[in-house]
Amino acid sequence: MAKVEQARWWAIRPVRSRKPATYRCPLCGLRLHAMSDHMLISPEGDGDRRRHAHGECVLAAREAGRLPLESEWRATRPRPPSLWRRLTGRV
Ligand SMILES: [Zn+2]
Repeated sequence: MAKVEQARWWAIRPVRSRKPATYRCPLCGLRLHAMSDHMLISPEGDGDRRRHAHGECVLAAREAGRLPLESEWRATRPRPPSLWRRLTGRV
């Protein structure tokens, strides 16, 4: 199993490049061709650290509870302090 860096959440989007390049999928460690349909995963939305990954690998990782999306990560955070709720009227 290849190593993926730690991140609280990931930005994930489908991509297909016209560049005749190959990348190494960070999830399985195998090569992937830039011109095939695949996914771009960015730790906490950081485009400088984005990685190209196989769609199937991203799907498998997400089903295993890895690679949470930002909205999923936010849902697990503690509630904001009551002062914030009083100021904004949010519950
Ligand atoms: Zn892969």
